[in-house]
Amino acid sequence: MHTVNLGNRTTPVGKIICIGRNYAEHIKELGNKTPDQPVIFMKPATAIVATGGTVTIPPYSNDCHHEIELAVLIGKEAKGISAEVALDHVAGYAVALDLTLRDVQNIQKEKGLPWEIAKAFDTSCPLSAFVSAEQIKDPQKLQLKLTVNGEVRQDGNTSDMMRTVAELIAAVSAYFTLEEGDIVLTGTPAGVSRIISGDQLEASIEQVGSLVVSVA
Ligand code: MG
Repeated sequence: MHTVNLGNRTTPVGKIICIGRNYAEHIKELGNKTPDQPVIFMKPATAIVATGGTVTIPPYSNDCHHEIELAVLIGKEAKGISAEVALDHVAGYAVALDLTLRDVQNIQKEKGLPWEIAKAFDTSCPLSAFVSAEQIKDPQKLQLKLTVNGEVRQDGNTSDMMRTVAELIAAVSAYFTLEEGDIVLTGTPAGVSRIISGDQLEASIEQVGSLVVSVA
């Protein structure tokens, strides 16, 4: 079982809900359309790999991309809540990667099929430790940065999200009950690119922390 620590509490991870297409520049770089509603998919807890761990790209892909994202830990049940109260349900924040098999995803998109085989494979969700929500004054003012082998690939800011963390939690809670231990990934800024065997990835978010993984 995967668990997360927050202060002196350990919570089992529930579902990992991911938001796609939440930064305009990233939508542009992939040639996608801006969605009317948030694009939502999920990863299982088995996708998590902790900092210091190793990512394994599945043999059915030749094009695995990194996507750095602000991860939000839910601390209190939320169903059908408004954006005004949404942040009251947040227990903490972490750095996450939404690793994506872009070649597989493109085939699934063309066929109108679900994305999970491209998005939810084992080790597709590297995740840092969580910091308490009280330590983050404004989740919409955080610099995100990802390097591969020391070279900067993604350098964005959560101020560029099209929907805020609060709006995303409210929107997700209209579809699914959010429970303590659930995690929401909030989309990636521009700069996604391919990673290959032997790469070292370092992802950091201002005030939140950092995450290091290598690719097997
Ligand atoms: Mg993503």
